[in-house]
Amino acid sequence: MVRLISFDIDGTLEVGAPPGVIPMSVLRRASELGFLIGTCSDRLLLEQQRVWEGSGVAPHFTVVKQGLAVVRATFDAEHYLHIGDTEVDAMVAREAGFDFLHSLEDDVLAYLRALQLHP
Ligand SMILES: [Mg+2]
Repeated sequence: MVRLISFDIDGTLEVGAPPGVIPMSVLRRASELGFLIGTCSDRLLLEQQRVWEGSGVAPHFTVVKQGLAVVRATFDAEHYLHIGDTEVDAMVAREAGFDFLHSLEDDVLAYLRALQLHP
């Protein structure tokens, strides 16, 4: 099953400002296991690319928040998920046809563990 996961950065990834709960090892593991992954953030695309360069993983996509629908249309997957920490994240996910996990309110690490993306 091909899964696509879109990660917000600030408040979601450990390298965000503020830092979130998701370690960069999750991105590496997801890449190794064949997940389609990328970031969807308010940050400029150049800044998003720097985050990926720091992780040593090549993303499939980097988009601004309004770009999630394009990701949905571009990649053929059986499950689309966006993980973020704000109401805007929840809204753009819903509008683009993505499931949504709240990086602070939901047990994101348990979810990632179940997908074998986190120890
Ligand atoms: Mg955020």
